Amino acid sequence: MTERLLRGRTLSFRSRPETVDDRASYVYEEDGGILVCGGKIAAVGPYALVAEKAGEVPVEDHRPHLILPGFIDAHVHVPQMQVIASYGAELLDWLNTYTFPEETKFIDAQHGRRIARLFCDEIIRNGTTTVAAYCSVHRQSVDAFFAEALSRDMLVIAGKVMMDRNAPDGLRDTAQSGYDDTKALIAEWHGKGRLHYAVTPRFAITSTPEQMELAGALMREHPDLHMQTHLSENKAEIAFTQELYPASTDYTDVYARYGLLGPKALFGHCIHLSDREADALSESGSVAVFCPTSNLFLGSGLFDWQGYSKRSKPVRIAAATDVGGGTSYSMLRTMDEAYKVVALQGEKMNPFAAFWQMTLGNAKALSLDERIGTLDVGTDADLVVLDATATPAMALRMETVKSLAEELFVLQTLGDDRPVRETYVAGRPLKRELTA
Ligand SMILES: [Zn+2]
Repeated sequence: MTERLLRGRTLSFRSRPETVDDRASYVYEEDGGILVCGGKIAAVGPYALVAEKAGEVPVEDHRPHLILPGFIDAHVHVPQMQVIASYGAELLDWLNTYTFPEETKFIDAQHGRRIARLFCDEIIRNGTTTVAAYCSVHRQSVDAFFAEALSRDMLVIAGKVMMDRNAPDGLRDTAQSGYDDTKALIAEWHGKGRLHYAVTPRFAITSTPEQMELAGALMREHPDLHMQTHLSENKAEIAFTQELYPASTDYTDVYARYGLLGPKALFGHCIHLSDREADALSESGSVAVFCPTSNLFLGSGLFDWQGYSKRSKPVRIAAATDVGGGTSYSMLRTMDEAYKVVALQGEKMNPFAAFWQMTLGNAKALSLDERIGTLDVGTDADLVVLDATATPAMALRMETVKSLAEELFVLQTLGDDRPVRETYVAGRPLKRELTA
């Protein structure tokens, strides 16, 4: 088994940090060590102690940089790498004008394989080790993505989008074929390596009631799976959904009626929820996924990150890029925009909470905190190494930084892929292997 001993300033979280002074919420070692063995963390703590335990193991010295659990992106669209940065539309127009035509190309398996490879390169470049990803409607797009992730031993969640109406030719399945293809993909991929399948009805607008019914059936047949979809992103989307599902109380109720709420249900956006809808998410343990760069870019609205967690029935929250509606693959860029969205609502997101969110917070939201998002012994060695002096502007700013909280805030506010010195996936340093 390959063993390596990493040395650096290690930081991981225990709970959501409520303030910058919430010292009990995180573990920080100024001179820390992480012993990696067979893709897992075998020991962690002060370097001297870990080194003593490790014996003769090659050391990778990352001092003075920070080592954290790898970043987790809880909502992203693999087929939208050539949709990102498309000008001038709100959600429904943006889907029809840019996204749907692009996704039709994924009928070509070779195109799917190329994009899957470039997508995995890009997230590793940005320090992201786990994603919850939407593929296209085509089975082969899921085959391509899972094969690529498996070849790098990445822990990913992904699924074929189910969509049988309100989409162009070449981009619709049928209720039955969506069900059958999903079943076949679950059998082929779920549990292989570190892969997790997610039942993925794109959103209520692009699924008939028959398809929603079968998505619910898939969740009953495979209750351990994740379910991912979109909810309450944009006013026109909400109005159209209510026209299509007139019997439902509201948008959230559409999904509830088909049995799609629950602790492994991930709802992208959740911007314009009523109190009743937020209660329904809270009571079912469902997760609201905050996609700040996307919400700002498409002009969708401001996610109530603080309010959802502080209400009497708190809603579980994840954070995500939502590329290609989102404008960056970087979780650092994402949390920078998250900070601004929270600020526009008169609150502040403290830097420890931001880093908690993209590591342990997202791992918990994905119900994967037994495996990833921490530096705990026995968990998977998915790690990111961060250099807060990576650019001249960052180095200059760092001259005046006096605390860890300030350093994290510089990383989040000025950082992108450049501060990511290395990304370890299951103990292997993958960023250095990327060709520039
Ligand atoms: Zn999305």
